[in-house]
Amino acid sequence: MVGPPKRLEDLSKVEGAVRFTCRACTAVRTIGLDEVIRARLIAKLSTDWEAVRHGSTCPVCESRNVRVDGVPFGERNPEVRARRAEARRLHLALQVLRDAAPRGAYMPVPAVQLALRVLHPFVGDQELLRTYWDQVMGAQKDSPCGGGQLAFRWLVTRLIDRGFPVAAEFQ
Ligand SMILES: [Zn+2]
Repeated sequence: MVGPPKRLEDLSKVEGAVRFTCRACTAVRTIGLDEVIRARLIAKLSTDWEAVRHGSTCPVCESRNVRVDGVPFGERNPEVRARRAEARRLHLALQVLRDAAPRGAYMPVPAVQLALRVLHPFVGDQELLRTYWDQVMGAQKDSPCGGGQLAFRWLVTRLIDRGFPVAAEFQ
């Protein structure tokens, strides 16, 4: 890649990530390309590089007074890798809980317990996790609308409200 990218996607050729440097709160955050692209597409914002540079907000304080840089090989940055690993854990835990939700007491108990533990720091609400457990345990097997589906939706809503990346398949 020679010169600045035209679109966010161009950064993928150089394993790029995006660095946000906030002039208001002084936070510096490097975020993986796929996460930035997904967030912009969900918000129906362009991935045009100039739009990203001039139309971004600080990931911490949401100030618009933020400098945006493409960072070649930023995908290898430990912060980016840690965020990606975190997103992967979240995704796997949600898969387990979604699949277990309609199964009642036939759910795979150790897998669900592990998934709930993984989810706890993201959800930050023990009561919500307990509600999921109680709803699943109290339901008949394969009940179409009972089970933990409702509690699962509450969990997903909570995660979205807290700003975590939740795949469209769970929403
Ligand atoms: Zn800030």
